[in-house]
Amino acid sequence: MEPQRLRLAVQKSGRLSDGSFELLKQCGLTISRGRDKLYGRAMELPIDVMLVRDDDIPAFVADGACDAGIVGSNVAEEDRLGSARVQPLEVVRRLGFARCKLALAAPSARAAEGFRGLDGARVATSYPRITERFFAGQGVHATTVLMNGSVEVAPRLKIADAVCDIVSTGATLEANGLKPLATVFESEAVLIAARASPDGLGAVFEALLKRIDGVLMSRDAKYVMMNAPRDRIDAISALLPGAASPTVLELAGRPDMVAIHAVCREDVFWSTLEQLKDNGASAILVLPIEKMMA
Ligand code: ATP
Ligand code: ZN
Repeated sequence: MEPQRLRLAVQKSGRLSDGSFELLKQCGLTISRGRDKLYGRAMELPIDVMLVRDDDIPAFVADGACDAGIVGSNVAEEDRLGSARVQPLEVVRRLGFARCKLALAAPSARAAEGFRGLDGARVATSYPRITERFFAGQGVHATTVLMNGSVEVAPRLKIADAVCDIVSTGATLEANGLKPLATVFESEAVLIAARASPDGLGAVFEALLKRIDGVLMSRDAKYVMMNAPRDRIDAISALLPGAASPTVLELAGRPDMVAIHAVCREDVFWSTLEQLKDNGASAILVLPIEKMMA
């Protein structure tokens, strides 16, 4: 019997889409999109990809229409704060793409005192619960005005005194004469699922998770090789970022030297290479890692 196909909700088109499809590709999944472009089918694992608006994803997953989904943590968190779901959604993995922040911003005239100056203000946002939680935590009494798009124009339309909106570069704020006052939430894409049922999340989901973990692990990871003086092994090991225990190999005809190989879980910078060199390392190679499984 063919195993039950896992239904994964992904944003159809928008700022999460490219990253989501890239992740699935890195997981070795080729998605063939149906003619109606409403869903895609993975060839390599029994997974169907539902192509939807990102805002609908938490409800689809919570209702069981989909088993899992990829959304911004801003959307997942807003949903969590607002819903009294019997089966709360679980953030299963943070995926590290579509990074942005939710920031408070106001016209210059209102910005002088920072966000504390927003006491008594009306703040336009698509994320009222996250925004209200921030104000409550800071003891600032502001009210929110829900807007589902073009939040940045609210002050000019006199709908609100300030905004709490998604910012990546700040260019949109600036174009609308708004000054950033505070970061309210840092967001990235996350994988969500309904909280694990007693019999687990299922074999297909586990298989997908293993592949996602492999991708996340290898994303910044590098394989580093070098020759080094035998008496500097400890100093050099300490310099390698996120490396558990390096492999130390004999070098033929050089009893004073060894080769050191290590998997570094974090990015290796030029400054690290310079420090390795200062410790007598030579012939240093840093290689990308394509796949990894713990
Ligand atoms: P949809 O039509 O699916 O409802 P949308 O217009 O609501 O799309 P997008 O602008 O595509 O949504 O943003 C989707 C998510 O991508 C946001 O909720 C946020 O998590 C993330 N995001 C938004 N803006 C940026 C940005 N400038 N940089 C990186 N990530 C962003
Ligand atoms: Zn949306």
